[in-house]
Amino acid sequence: MSAVESPGISALRIGADIVGKLACPCCKMSLVVSADVMECSSQDCLTRFPLVDGIPILLNEKSSVFSIKDFVPGEATFNPRAKARLIRRLVYSFLNYLPALGNNPNSRRNYSLFADALSKTSGKTRVLVVGGSIVGKGMEQLIEDDRIDFVETDISIGPRTMMVCDAHDLPFEAETFDGIIIQAVLEHVLDPFRCVEEIYRVLKANGIVYAEIPFMQQVHGNRYDYLRFSHLGLLRLFRKFEEIVSGAAGGPGMALAWSYRYFLLSFVKSTKARLLASIFAHFTGFWLKYFDYFLVNRPGALDASSGNFFLGRKSSAVLSDRDLIKKYKGGDV
Ligand SMILES: [Zn+2]
Repeated sequence: MSAVESPGISALRIGADIVGKLACPCCKMSLVVSADVMECSSQDCLTRFPLVDGIPILLNEKSSVFSIKDFVPGEATFNPRAKARLIRRLVYSFLNYLPALGNNPNSRRNYSLFADALSKTSGKTRVLVVGGSIVGKGMEQLIEDDRIDFVETDISIGPRTMMVCDAHDLPFEAETFDGIIIQAVLEHVLDPFRCVEEIYRVLKANGIVYAEIPFMQQVHGNRYDYLRFSHLGLLRLFRKFEEIVSGAAGGPGMALAWSYRYFLLSFVKSTKARLLASIFAHFTGFWLKYFDYFLVNRPGALDASSGNFFLGRKSSAVLSDRDLIKKYKGGDV
């Protein structure tokens, strides 16, 4: 069902074509769109979703840990330690200027393969980015591809956020997208299996998905970090997709560098001491990541990777668990 358009939607960051594909995140019925609100058309639901600076806040509050109010200026409720959070955010943005501990040697190639797989679809394609408030690692070239219309969503408002939504309840009609990118997001959701079901639902037949998820990586994002996936665990998660290619997204060098930093962080508690320990770790451990240029595609790296990736195509076949275990290609064969 299509959303009903009215004057005011020109202020939206999403294109008019995607407005017609929006669905209520609570009941999946169509939305009525006006200048400052979107409202579910179902009389049984009638949930209202505000627009904040042209960004619709399309959250199902019954299932999400996030609240709509938290995105509305002056109405935020969940913020018991606002000052601490602000300091932490400043600290983490400062760390971006230090020599990085992480590296993702495969991601640029993987996005190129994503574009190749997508190009088999004729004409302009529509790609959903889940967790797209900023450009993901290795995605810089893809995002400039004018053959693709991107719909960049996130659970936070960043420089590229067009819409706030939760991956557990994607607010789109079924079969809306030709491709979906979900990079470094699925560790931050409570039910990744449900999120992948949603990805499956909103992808067109034979649509392309690209996912990256940590494996040997410590907690980041404090209370919003829950799960890790081995290579086979990731293949099981995407068992309703035909694999194009999969493997390590960050190698054992990156995993070791992160372990080193978090080992040091275990000794300290205060924000200042944690910042100093992090700075020390970055300046003394950054070089470990360079081993990954050599290691990342070796079998042993799959047992010790920092993260893993999956590029696949929506399929009507499901990978059985017996066939899944035949796909082990780590170092212990
Ligand atoms: Zn509804």
